Amino acid sequence: MSNLASILESRLSSQRLRWLRALAEASRNRATGIYIVGGVVRDLLLDRPIVDMDISVSGLDEQLASDMADALDGRVTSHSQFNTFKIEIDSTVIDVAMTRQESYANPGALPEVLPGSLEQDLARRDFSVNAMAVDISSDAWGELLDPFNGQGDLNRSFIRVLHPKSFSDDATRIFRAVRYSQRLGFALQDETAMLLQNSLGRLDAISGDRMRHEFQKVFAEACAGPILSRLDELGVLGVVFGPLGRHSSLPWPDWQASEGFSENPPNPEELVWLSTLACGLTPGEAGLFARRLNMDSNWSTVVRDTVAVEGLLDELCSHGILRSRIYQMLNQLHPAALRGVAATHDGSAASGNIHLYLQELQGMRTELTGRDLMALGIDEGPEIGRLLNALLEARLDGSIADRLSEEALLRRMIS
Ligand code: ATP
Ligand code: MG
Repeated sequence: MSNLASILESRLSSQRLRWLRALAEASRNRATGIYIVGGVVRDLLLDRPIVDMDISVSGLDEQLASDMADALDGRVTSHSQFNTFKIEIDSTVIDVAMTRQESYANPGALPEVLPGSLEQDLARRDFSVNAMAVDISSDAWGELLDPFNGQGDLNRSFIRVLHPKSFSDDATRIFRAVRYSQRLGFALQDETAMLLQNSLGRLDAISGDRMRHEFQKVFAEACAGPILSRLDELGVLGVVFGPLGRHSSLPWPDWQASEGFSENPPNPEELVWLSTLACGLTPGEAGLFARRLNMDSNWSTVVRDTVAVEGLLDELCSHGILRSRIYQMLNQLHPAALRGVAATHDGSAASGNIHLYLQELQGMRTELTGRDLMALGIDEGPEIGRLLNALLEARLDGSIADRLSEEALLRRMIS
């Protein structure tokens, strides 16, 4: 059995080490085991940054969680079903959970949960590399528990499920497998790849909310593009979108290379990813996609507007198109949809005009305001809006450029 004490001590801050020791001390004689589990163990062994820490405790209950929080001078901020607690210390959150066993009555349904041993808790996990634990009790500090040979798979760079029914029990693991394999540069182990293919139909059983959540996790990854492209190759997007769905022919944007994005962070925000995902859909498919993911109005608007922007691409390419026309076409549409479509069609004249709108036209204003127009004797009402709009269009097209010329044009319009 390996001991990771020296890795713990070199990789974790002294504050985190103090917390772990305090948690172990508080649970002494009251719990049968205390461990760090899951992703943190994987990332310790891979020498990757540690983000959040998950702790599992055998025999955890509400009283013990509260005593553990006291031992850290923190407080329990949430208690979900199945004795899973969040302990907040200043601005850090540590997840502390009771070790549990799970069984799936129906594929796709949420599992039934009972208290269980650490081994049972590791056996319910998704992949061998996520199914390791490190003992943090003072008696066995640093001991690695690795019943599924996750360490071997880390060395071979494999994502491997723990049993053949894993993907059919919970098809969100299909997304997870692809996400980790791209993030870590790992391959899907052969049998896992085959099981994944055979379980694609199980994605139908995943609720819209859970499916949307999986996409959000993909969008948040630094390598979201390669993950989406792999999901596409494996047929996952085809199942989510239906037979007529996106892609295949459309490239995934390369944000670092794409025009007009150089000043933005390389990984754009989730709504822009959502838009690139909706590119190529017909209006009907876009509606199905929004319903399948049970999207809120913000997400649905981005999907709908993406289809609308793509419908304008031909006109946006037309030679000599007026800047005011570009403005009219794009100004009611969601900026994330504009950015997603521009990046997907990067290099085209249409994409150039979308960037022109985002970077320049969108922010242009007339110098005269509605108040100025009323001071000039125009009655309050829709006429003011119409006149201001005409002034703005003239300004966008460069036929006027200052307040004086705006006033002159206004006089001509109302005379
Ligand atoms: P990340 O770095 O993405 O947070 P993580 O491994 O910490 O990676 P989480 O989604 O935070 O992943 O989940 C924590 C742990 O819970 C995982 O390591 C895995 O052991 C387990 N887990 C999460 N989701 C599932 C699932 N759908 N099926 C089985 N086990 C899961
Ligand atoms: Mg995590």
